[in-house]
Amino acid sequence: MTIEKIVNNNLCTGCGVCVSEDKIGNSSMRWNEDGFLIPTVTSNSDLAKMEKVCPFSLKNEYNEDYLAKKFIDNYQYIDDDIGVYTSLHAGYSLEYRNSSSSGGVATYVFEKLLSSNYVEHLFIVKEINGRYGYQLFSSVDKIKEISKTRYYPVTLESLFSEIEKIEGRVAVSGVACFIKAIRLKQNIYPELIDKIPFLIGIICGGLKSKFYTDFLAQSAGCSSEYDSPEYRVKNAKSYASDYQFSCKEKGNNRIHVVEMQRLGDMWGTGLFKSNACDFCDDVTTELADISLGDAWIKPYNQEGLGNSIVIARSQLAADIISQGINSGDLKFDVLDVDRIKASQQGSFNHRHKGLLYRINNAKKNNREFPKRRKRFLVKQNMIFNLVQKERLITREKSISVWRETKDITSFNERFKPYIMSLYQKTTINHKYLRIKEKLKKAIGINK
Ligand SMILES: Cc1cc2nc3c(=O)[nH]c(=O)nc-3n(C[C@H](O)[C@H](O)[C@H](O)COP(=O)(O)OP(=O)(O)OC[C@H]3O[C@@H](n4cnc5c(N)ncnc54)[C@H](O)[C@@H]3O)c2cc1C
Ligand code: SF4
Ligand code: SF4
Repeated sequence: MTIEKIVNNNLCTGCGVCVSEDKIGNSSMRWNEDGFLIPTVTSNSDLAKMEKVCPFSLKNEYNEDYLAKKFIDNYQYIDDDIGVYTSLHAGYSLEYRNSSSSGGVATYVFEKLLSSNYVEHLFIVKEINGRYGYQLFSSVDKIKEISKTRYYPVTLESLFSEIEKIEGRVAVSGVACFIKAIRLKQNIYPELIDKIPFLIGIICGGLKSKFYTDFLAQSAGCSSEYDSPEYRVKNAKSYASDYQFSCKEKGNNRIHVVEMQRLGDMWGTGLFKSNACDFCDDVTTELADISLGDAWIKPYNQEGLGNSIVIARSQLAADIISQGINSGDLKFDVLDVDRIKASQQGSFNHRHKGLLYRINNAKKNNREFPKRRKRFLVKQNMIFNLVQKERLITREKSISVWRETKDITSFNERFKPYIMSLYQKTTINHKYLRIKEKLKKAIGINK
């Protein structure tokens, strides 16, 4: 399996780390026709070296279990689904919640890492010319500029060349596959363990094509060029999932806004998602020092300003959190592992329970797929698998139909039959689960 095969089978999420291994061929990242970033590979490219750092390498020599044990310092517990950890919480940062996407904990932890001089720089996602990309950042005073979730393809392409040029240590934020690529790089170059001593993991439900942002902008009524898309405009008076998307029309600086709930389910449907994400079994970003996500459980999801779930894995991460709680900076509750899992239940259902179906489907269609951890490959019932089949279709069609139409009215018209078919199967599955639950109760089975 070479990088070319990974890319050609749509198994690339654009992390860009392979590019840093291609010293001869000078690969770089470019946009493909589906709105994702992928590496260009030349005939001189060092393919074997590039594949060694790819989180989707078919060989998958080092899986998340191995890498977590090697790289996460002094963790206390292990769980099959969420990985190694030391403490589990839900809550928010008093200072950064309002200006952040969830509870502002990512901004809080980055601020602590900088102000304590544990690192001198951050490599984070921030605005560049009206869109978003990774960049170096070192200013504690302007820390709020780094906040907010960006559902937009970004790449770590320049991380390793940039940090070579600077003095000091660097903390990086990233979704699970990006963090895995950094760990694979540290596995080969141990000097990078000290250079990048802390990783903030963003819990990730899937990489969206840049078409997603165009779809949202047009849904908000902006049909010409725009910039500064904001994906999570909160409503303090409502509940957490009631947020808006906004963007600024370039010609007249008009702000366009759309209520996300009006657009329906953007995640469970696989809309505009990368094919690679359907082969990702790391739901909670297991290789980061700390993993942060939305607290999609009661009572936290009732608060429009948002709450984070926080999995502190390394001892340092757990210390930052407990100091924040003691100083009153963080308003946190302790959670147990089941509540953490419940907050990401939809993602676990899709990513773990649906994985075997998708792997078998790839085999049947002679498509390549990366090796995944055996414990997640569990047979499911026929109705559940039918939903997985429909999701594969909606994911793929959302991208191909947008590629062809690039217009919200035509897109909605052509996409409707696929989404209706998925909703039908999902409703049948929910009915089936309810009947199963009732039957279990009736005959006295609790599990
Ligand atoms: C593509 C994507 C999918 C997600 N899916 C889920 C999900 O299914 N379930 C869930 O609970 N949470 C998900 N999240 C995480 C959630 O949206 C918040 O980012 C997270 O809870 C941190 O919130 P915060 O308020 O602590 O962060 P903030 O304090 O607002 O800081 C955000 C931090 O995230 C970094 N960042 C922003 N965008 C990206 C990006 N694209 N890649 C890497 N770093 C980035 C910024 O640099 C910043 O440091 C997703 C995030 C992304 C980017
Ligand atoms: S996932 Fe990352 S390492 Fe793998 S091919 Fe894509 S850019 Fe390269
Ligand atoms: S779902 Fe997994 S593979 Fe997809 S972007 Fe998120 S972490 Fe990467």
